[in-house]
Amino acid sequence: MKNPEIGYRPTWAEVNLGNLEYNFRQVKSVVGLKVKVMATVKADAYGHGLLPVARRLAASGVDYFGVASIDEGIRLREAGIENPILILGMVLKNNISALFDYGLSVTVCDDDLVSALEIKGASCGKAVGVHIKVDTGMGRLGVAHEDAFGFIKRIYNKKFVKIHGLFTHFAFADINRDFTMEQIAIFGRLVTKLKKRGILIPLLHAANSMGIIGYKQGHFNMVRPGLVLYGLYPTDDVDIKLKPVLSLKSRVVYVKRMPKDKGISYGHTYITKKDTNIAVLPIGYGDGYPRNLSNLAPVLIKGRKFHINGRICMDQVMVDVGSAKIKIGDEAILIGNSGKNKITAEDLAGLSATIPYEIVCGLGSRIPRVYIG
Ligand SMILES: *Cc1c(COP(=O)(O)O)cnc(C)c1O
Repeated sequence: MKNPEIGYRPTWAEVNLGNLEYNFRQVKSVVGLKVKVMATVKADAYGHGLLPVARRLAASGVDYFGVASIDEGIRLREAGIENPILILGMVLKNNISALFDYGLSVTVCDDDLVSALEIKGASCGKAVGVHIKVDTGMGRLGVAHEDAFGFIKRIYNKKFVKIHGLFTHFAFADINRDFTMEQIAIFGRLVTKLKKRGILIPLLHAANSMGIIGYKQGHFNMVRPGLVLYGLYPTDDVDIKLKPVLSLKSRVVYVKRMPKDKGISYGHTYITKKDTNIAVLPIGYGDGYPRNLSNLAPVLIKGRKFHINGRICMDQVMVDVGSAKIKIGDEAILIGNSGKNKITAEDLAGLSATIPYEIVCGLGSRIPRVYIG
């Protein structure tokens, strides 16, 4: 029978919004009352579902939202989100009308875009908020920090382009403390110089999750957490208590008795070692479950730990469950807790030679998200 929430295929991601709120409060307690929080909800809130995540954070008192594109900003506005929204990525000149129509703030780091915004603002009689991005060492977006002062002076007196913020981004806060401290110092010197010349910018921000946890000096007056809101850790030994928000679940749809020495799945990369039972779960790389986890990833069924055996297919994976009493319909946990065991997105990232960000962002739209908490 069809489950109205997840459809006919028993594979779903459970998203615990109570844990999301808990993590947001943890961030608040790290940064203190005076520092605002811009929740980073790009890429469908790191795979957790943009709108339910944004609604819960808005209700919990988040100040700002950060998204990657105009389209993501429009989705938030159309869902009734009224908080300020910053497009963290670049927009093209021919798309800027939407910023005025939907009241979205935008990142700027070149004069050309600023001029286009000023002209468009004058023609529609509305101002647009901008945050100036400064490159202090990331080597991605941002005006070179040496050129930032002049750039800001040129924008400061524009009528329809209003400077709401100034920001930068860390290149490797997780592993290079000296470099990150230098980025913070460069940014701080720019802020001081602007203040001295009477240029006051309301919002100053630099810290992503690792910046929040590791660099009090880098908080300025707003922070931009993404990863930690979802209960994921940027590195192993960090001093913040988080609760994972997403669990990935499926159910056994088939159990097959197999004799010793039989090959399992494409390429027979797994051979049964004895008479055994092979359980099949309806999830695969077509759902964003990485294929390079074949013969590596753990899976929990009835609280017991097994492994994915044989190659991960597009829509299915196999699990050698030995003589355990596993039957069709039993729940399987690919990310999450069961009994005393747990599997985290960080665990899978380690096995898949990637970062937890990619594991959760990669979970496809074929996996329904079910909201609890
Ligand atoms: C994605 C992003 C963040 C959030 O980073 P986390 O490491 O997930 O906290 C912050 N700032 C910018 C500019 C981003 O693009």
